Amino acid sequence: MPTHHNWQLGRDIEYPYDAPLPQKQVAYVFDINKCIECQTCTVACKTAWTSGKGEETIFWNNVETKPYGGYPTTWDLKLLEQREAAKWDKGVLQTKTIFEDHGPLDAPTGHMPTPEDYSAVNLGEDDITGIIEKGAHFSGVHPMWMFYLARICNHCTYPACVAACPRKAVYKRDEDGIVLIDQERCRGYQECVKACPYKKTFFNMISRTSEKCIGCYPRVEQGEVALCVESCIGKIRMHGFLSTQEAPREDNPLDYIVKIRKLALPLYPQFGTSPNVYYIPPVHVPDGFLEQLFGPNVEQAKAMYKNLKDDKQLLGALLLFGSTNRIVTKFKVEGDEVIGWDAKGEEITRVPFTEPTYVRDHYDQRFDVYRHNTT
Ligand code: SF4
Ligand code: SF4
Ligand code: SF4
Repeated sequence: MPTHHNWQLGRDIEYPYDAPLPQKQVAYVFDINKCIECQTCTVACKTAWTSGKGEETIFWNNVETKPYGGYPTTWDLKLLEQREAAKWDKGVLQTKTIFEDHGPLDAPTGHMPTPEDYSAVNLGEDDITGIIEKGAHFSGVHPMWMFYLARICNHCTYPACVAACPRKAVYKRDEDGIVLIDQERCRGYQECVKACPYKKTFFNMISRTSEKCIGCYPRVEQGEVALCVESCIGKIRMHGFLSTQEAPREDNPLDYIVKIRKLALPLYPQFGTSPNVYYIPPVHVPDGFLEQLFGPNVEQAKAMYKNLKDDKQLLGALLLFGSTNRIVTKFKVEGDEVIGWDAKGEEITRVPFTEPTYVRDHYDQRFDVYRHNTT
């Protein structure tokens, strides 16, 4: 099997396909601390892309409650239970990836969810105690914490869905790294559904083909962010591109947050697919649980997030979230503002570090109305 360097694991991995890396890699940063699970992103994606026949229980974007929620149900637990727990030494993964568990000709380690697993999209929502009796966590059975995990396809650098497809119907675009399924080639064998460790390919029982998040490629080609990103009420999401593996740029907000400062971390990096949705870990959740989810850099990321008020460059990059529907490829902090430019070099956003405050007169003579100022 060919070997590739997986920077998220600090080592080379074995991956069955020897395709060159894309010219640039689509990537997303989600700040979990700010997600309110309003599901606006889910609805935006669903109404735009998956409102057809056979797509009733297909959610390319979903938001689940951790630790107990998951869609499809227990998608991650079922894979974790099959595998040795991840071990890291100085940032290097010591255990095997899903591509290395078996022989070179075998499919990646995976599992096939049952139809029932897709039937309750928000099972476990807002649930902090699971089957523990109400209130029991107050007596120390379970510390009281939970958080919302928004999930889309990770447009992985080494996609398990691509590796598993016997028809070569799943492919990764050279121009931006978006992973797509060719509906003409797909025969519905569902090997991708079984292999994707994030369960982000879905089988359509009417069309008898598999389908997945298309990365909103028609929008990306116009320089616009994905619908689930633009519609995000909490402004928790940034969408852009990572530069090539070796040459991250300080002025690219994605490179800066992910590669240079390592504030945002990949989901279950130990699986080995090099996923490209990066999460800023929730600061109130115990490190042990988060390290299983996001790898060994959780503690540093949480400390960095808590110190943001004294970290102007990083705070500036985060202020860009939700400030424009265009893809920001370059940013700069200038005085008390952060400025963002698109790929053509046009200024597309300018955000102040401190929002201006306007105090209005209690009585507005012009309209003969009384107004209240709220904060
Ligand atoms: S729209 Fe944003 S805040 Fe609302 S659930 Fe989705 S990711 Fe979370
Ligand atoms: S998340 Fe799953 S479907 Fe998406 S690229 Fe990775 S392996 Fe493929
Ligand atoms: S990127 Fe587009 S297709 Fe993919 S989950 Fe978001 S809205 Fe849906």
